[in-house]
Amino acid sequence: MSKQVVVVGGGVIGLLTAFNLAAKVGQVVVCDQGEVGRESSWAGGGIVSPLYPWRYSPAVTALAHWSQDFYPQLGERLFASTGLDPEVHTTGLYWLDLDDEAEALAWAERERRPLSAVDISAAYDAVPVLGSGFKHAIFMAGVANVRNPRLVKSLKAALLALPNVTLREHCQVSGFVHESGRVAGVQTADGVLKADEVVLSAGAWSGDLLRTLGLELPVEPVKGQMILFKCAEDFLPSMVLAKGRYAIPRRDGHILVGSTLEHAGYDKTPTEDALASLRASAIELLPELKDATVVGHWAGLRPGSPEGIPYIGPVPGHDGLWLNCGHYRNGLVLAPASCQLFTDLLTGGEPIIDPAPYSPAGRFS
Ligand SMILES: Cc1cc2nc3c(=O)[nH]c(=O)nc-3n(C[C@H](O)[C@H](O)[C@H](O)COP(=O)(O)OP(=O)(O)OC[C@H]3O[C@@H](n4cnc5c(N)ncnc54)[C@H](O)[C@@H]3O)c2cc1C
Repeated sequence: MSKQVVVVGGGVIGLLTAFNLAAKVGQVVVCDQGEVGRESSWAGGGIVSPLYPWRYSPAVTALAHWSQDFYPQLGERLFASTGLDPEVHTTGLYWLDLDDEAEALAWAERERRPLSAVDISAAYDAVPVLGSGFKHAIFMAGVANVRNPRLVKSLKAALLALPNVTLREHCQVSGFVHESGRVAGVQTADGVLKADEVVLSAGAWSGDLLRTLGLELPVEPVKGQMILFKCAEDFLPSMVLAKGRYAIPRRDGHILVGSTLEHAGYDKTPTEDALASLRASAIELLPELKDATVVGHWAGLRPGSPEGIPYIGPVPGHDGLWLNCGHYRNGLVLAPASCQLFTDLLTGGEPIIDPAPYSPAGRFS
């Protein structure tokens, strides 16, 4: 295919979409209003699973499972080609004192996922630094976390090495260009960029751009704050989660604790209240963190969407315009499947999974 495709937004979704498309189409241009990979895809925790996978619809589950299987090879491929390791770190995940443990276990049996109830003493044996007083636990082996700032960095490096991809950073898209009744490019701060197909993957900002076409897509920014500690490499052997808060160990002993869920528009300012609340959760989960210094504190904007079901596919009535956005709390885990499905749809390939649940058709408000 000799098409030229413009991708609007260079988060994990835009970058991986461009990476996949580059193997199938003539030219790919990625425009980002800032540096690529510095928004939600940088700010997230990188758990390669929805936080409570059994509470999601089959649509989210289907993307998550495909992606979970694919992540190790994606990490290896990017490391081999760029020398930058996204660090897909398989630690497993303990959920502590859940209210809906029975539902979780029933879901796992149905979906054949390796989730099982464990004796609480076994959880304390496996994670000796766990705070006291937890009564019950379930554990899913095989769950990984990806070091997302490195993932986007390695994706950027991989794209820069491709002859048919151009990255345009600090290039804000302000609207769409129409020709012969179809979308034929984008308007940018640097002028018009012509394209055969335009992909909107602008994360939390995706709805704003569609509004220029009179379309109301229910994607809104949902602020999330995280804090970071640095401990010994073997401090925390598994991810742990209780009362909606989690701790994620990186390979080098960094521990991320998240996260808040706030509706504050596009404000990304980290707050003292969130810092205190996240620190209290961290100490409840892992009391030794009481004496550890918080070495980082930041906020990102998730692309919130109803039920967290992303929009993947063409925009009806606007030929040439496509969406891959609205991944809410799960954009890192869902990225590989979403971007593969998207590429299948745009290039006319056999879709990896049924695309119907993600179709933008009928989902504008
Ligand atoms: C605190 C927190 C914790 C999280 N934890 C996890 C987790 O553990 N696991 C998980 O799977 N997900 C997690 N997420 C969610 C995940 O980070 C997001 O779903 C995902 O990064 C969304 O990717 P994206 O590419 O759609 O958006 P983004 O990464 O936000 O990228 C969108 C890009 O579009 C660009 N852009 C916007 N408007 C324009 C324009 N007009 N012109 C040009 N460029 C534009 C922006 O500059 C940005 O670079 C978390 C998020 C947060 C905030």
